[in-house]
Amino acid sequence: MRLASPSFLLKSISIAAISYLAVRYARQAVMSTPRTIVVGGGLAGLSAAHTALENGATVVLLDKKPSLGGNSVKASSGINGAGTSAQKKHGIVDTPEAFYKDSAASARDLARPHLIKALTDHSAPTLQWLVDVFGVDLSLVARLGGHSIPRTHRGKGGAPGWAMTSALVKALEARSDRAQIIKDARVVSLVRDAGRVTGVEYEVEGERRTELGAVVIATGGYAADYATGGFLSQHRGDLMTLPTTNGDHATGDGHRLAASLGGALCDMDQVQVHPTGFVDPKDPDAKTKFLAAEALRGVGGLLVDRNGARFVDELERRDTVTAAMQAAEAPIRLLLNPQAAAALEAHCKFYMAKGLMKRYENAATVAEETGIPLSALEATFTAHQAYADGREKDPFGKTNFDNATYTLDEPLLVAQMTPVVHYTMGGITVDEQARVLDEAGGPIPGLFAAGEAIGGVHGRNRLGGSSLLEAVVFGRIAGKSSTSTV
Ligand SMILES: Cc1cc2nc3c(=O)[nH]c(=O)nc-3n(C[C@H](O)[C@H](O)[C@H](O)COP(=O)(O)OP(=O)(O)OC[C@H]3O[C@@H](n4cnc5c(N)ncnc54)[C@H](O)[C@@H]3O)c2cc1C
Repeated sequence: MRLASPSFLLKSISIAAISYLAVRYARQAVMSTPRTIVVGGGLAGLSAAHTALENGATVVLLDKKPSLGGNSVKASSGINGAGTSAQKKHGIVDTPEAFYKDSAASARDLARPHLIKALTDHSAPTLQWLVDVFGVDLSLVARLGGHSIPRTHRGKGGAPGWAMTSALVKALEARSDRAQIIKDARVVSLVRDAGRVTGVEYEVEGERRTELGAVVIATGGYAADYATGGFLSQHRGDLMTLPTTNGDHATGDGHRLAASLGGALCDMDQVQVHPTGFVDPKDPDAKTKFLAAEALRGVGGLLVDRNGARFVDELERRDTVTAAMQAAEAPIRLLLNPQAAAALEAHCKFYMAKGLMKRYENAATVAEETGIPLSALEATFTAHQAYADGREKDPFGKTNFDNATYTLDEPLLVAQMTPVVHYTMGGITVDEQARVLDEAGGPIPGLFAAGEAIGGVHGRNRLGGSSLLEAVVFGRIAGKSSTSTV
């Protein structure tokens, strides 16, 4: 028998040792690379995914729909920021403190200072991140109801929700080296190991599969959860007959996932009814309605009752406008003069193309078709001008008058409005690090949540523009937190 030479043996041992060490280091490297599983591909989930990547993680993003975007793509008014570069360019002086004050006033007795502070303090850097990293245009600024200062940002092109979401989707698709997107994948349960959430189970192509990692729930709200026994029927049976603006994905899946492991839910009866959903003349009873962006009132739109009379400060908070509409004589109509229409030209073109808004040559043709007396329109326009000029005080307390001049001779855009279920303020209880909390107030390790799925940020009433902000701010916080605890 021939024995191996000592040099051959030495070489073999060295190769074996090197291979062993290489495998070990590779395994260690894989194990020490944080992995984040994001459930939901709206703006919150996309923001979490990008931030997890920025913090060194690999990412799997799952969405139950065939395309990403959720309700985020529909958002049409804009995103709030206080102290932004766009505000400075327009000469608008604003601070996180002023934004905090408006948000707390709107949240009223359900205000949670730590969450409002997280939202408002992060707002300007968050908008800057969208502009700098993803090239989103947020150069225009408007003032929406309940805000003491113009701070709702949008770009010159299409709807701001679409602009932001599509930019983040495109950028995530370009990161296929470290980010995987799986569509048509419905997450059905969470995986837990020794008290820590370690992954999700999901259904895709008729199979049940598992992904392991820290979990960010970003599944949106429950404003389309009309099922018997669903969250709306449990918490707000009185709203079951109202239409909704939400996509049919908004069924509170993430709330159920969190609750299944003891996650606490808060404020579940706080559901925002938006005052202005379009009544489509072709399908007036449709359960899903297009939203008439709040910016339409922000740029000077008027709300009038069946007799052509105003009945509210159009820039009041959503809950106040809704209550006034419900007390007023229907049908309620929104009127826009040419200046207001020009300020939201892209929006108005879209609404007109959909047949939701109609252009009239002058007030006389509006009167003829709607039955509103021309003299009533004249009285409304004259009085509104007097309030705008400061000659008289608006009986409804309106103090901001953009594009305030309405005349009988100029064209008018007109649309019929109805209140719609729009947004759910209630949701999963989190802390300012986006950690999901249990009933005792302690964090559930490995589980985070962001966006409309979380509750408590807006208390009793969300201000327009603050939900997209919540999605990006808490998405980023959740994405970062998910990488530091794995
Ligand atoms: C018409 C309309 C206009 C709006 N305009 C504005 C505005 O101008 N400004 C503003 O601030 N806010 C606005 N909002 C509110 C805002 O758009 C939403 O609150 C916000 O976009 C929610 O973002 P999100 O990422 O939390 O949820 P979403 O964008 O709704 O995304 C949730 C995603 O989770 C997925 N998902 C759900 N369940 C599962 C599951 N089990 N497994 C896998 N995936 C799942 C869904 O398919 C969806 O893609 C508007 C809302 C609507 C409906």
